Amino acid sequence: MKSIEHFINGKIVKGLSKKTSKVFNPATGEQSAEVKLASKTEVDSAVEKAKLAFTNWSLKPPAQRARIIFKFKELIEKNSDELIKLIVSEHGKVYADAQGSLTRGLEVVEFACGIPNLLKGEFTENVGTDVDSWSIRQPLGVCAGITPFNFPAMVPMWMFPMAIACGNTFVLKPSEKDPSCSIKLCELFKEAGLPDGVFNVVNGDKEAVDALLTNKDVAAISFVGSTPIAKYIYENSAKNEKRVQALGGAKNHCVVMPDCDLDQAVNGLMGAAYGSAGERCMAQSVAVAVGKIADPLVEKLAKKVESLKIGPGLDKNSEMGPLITKEHLEKVKGYVDIGLKEGASLIVDGRNIKLQGYEKGFYMGGCLFDNVKKNMKIYKEEIFGPVLSVVRVKDFDSAVNLVNEHEFGNGTSIYTRDGDTGRTFASKIKIGMVGINIPIPVPVAYHSFGGWKRSLFGSSGMHGNEGVRFYTKLKTITSKWPTGVRSDPEFVMPIMK
Ligand code: NAD
Repeated sequence: MKSIEHFINGKIVKGLSKKTSKVFNPATGEQSAEVKLASKTEVDSAVEKAKLAFTNWSLKPPAQRARIIFKFKELIEKNSDELIKLIVSEHGKVYADAQGSLTRGLEVVEFACGIPNLLKGEFTENVGTDVDSWSIRQPLGVCAGITPFNFPAMVPMWMFPMAIACGNTFVLKPSEKDPSCSIKLCELFKEAGLPDGVFNVVNGDKEAVDALLTNKDVAAISFVGSTPIAKYIYENSAKNEKRVQALGGAKNHCVVMPDCDLDQAVNGLMGAAYGSAGERCMAQSVAVAVGKIADPLVEKLAKKVESLKIGPGLDKNSEMGPLITKEHLEKVKGYVDIGLKEGASLIVDGRNIKLQGYEKGFYMGGCLFDNVKKNMKIYKEEIFGPVLSVVRVKDFDSAVNLVNEHEFGNGTSIYTRDGDTGRTFASKIKIGMVGINIPIPVPVAYHSFGGWKRSLFGSSGMHGNEGVRFYTKLKTITSKWPTGVRSDPEFVMPIMK
């Protein structure tokens, strides 16, 4: 059985702990590897190596760091097929989708290549007579990332390229469900010329996460995952005096207005609800049908959901692959059972599909609920599977209130042909990322990614300028060079004259 180890200080390091976790190929349901789960001692040793590497790396001129990152970008492009296949084999999503997610990660690497420009400070001449003042941003030290299973390349790439470009060193604890991609990224970064110890991967579970949270040499924690764990990370990072950004779960609504281009809305919803088997934090899992659009919307959606092509991620015809694990598959099917008990109308039931030759794979078909109500568990909770709920509302204001009252605030979209409606929606909606006739409004690398409410704990999102600010601390210098005239001591708050 293949064993997935750690990558510390520039090389693969065999895990010493006896603890392991199984890694599956979700398409076949077979175990493909076991991953070592690091002990506290192993995590502490990775942090120590990262701390030792910090001084030299942080002193390297940003342009020199950028050259290594540029080389890393080229190597990712060169090795993209291998990386994509690693994503598909451990996550299950279809090849083209995995390719898209890798490209989104790569865009952050491209953005990080501009770090000399991004780190430029501000300067004011003569804040007082012969007194100048300037602000610079300096790296924090060792930063850590803890990432979820659903984007094994993209989410880590929201974090470490930015942190490293800013002059920090990094310890990544990827999801134990699909860890291989992170190790490959480490190897490529080393090949690009990254000094040993700057980027490290420790595989592990709660023990490894807790070791990062309590290690006094970790300056900042970036987390992406479910809301209960995000909250735990936020609280414990603060308790241990660390800077933190913790992105959590979601329940994204797509508001479908009666005046919209219905085919466009239906196609948008299909990709956003069922792409990656609904295992996306930006998945649209609620369609809010406004007024008379509801019947034709449900009718058109039903036809498309019934004809979804489900299969292994490497089959070019597949539109939707399997779910990540058998446990998760059962959990998602369990939500469909709950929805039926709660009285929602199950228009398409994908619970019992069988794929010839892949009988043990973790597949289910798309499910579509109509007449879902606000008080139902299937509406309130994140299902994280291919289940779309249609909620019917009478008008635009009711749709806005519905979205705003939900505890999550990651993404939302509206389909309309009316500019005023679109603009009012963008202005009133209490959500971090908004699409107008765009189904999955994931910001590009030079903007920033982040939700509101219980979808993000902390004050900064990922990448873009938010990333630069998160991974650096501000220093403001005020200086005056003696001109020969000596001044007497002053005991009042200095005022620039
Ligand atoms: P998860 O919260 O179970 O795991 C995320 C990470 O936390 C993993 O590395 C895991 O090992 C670790 N972890 C799990 N349990 C822990 C515990 N008790 N203590 C400490 N660490 C623990 O999430 P997941 O199932 O891997 O990913 C799916 C979730 O991630 C969904 O809720 C999804 O919405 C969310 N997500 C959010 C975003 C976003 O940007 N907001 C992006 C992607 C995924």
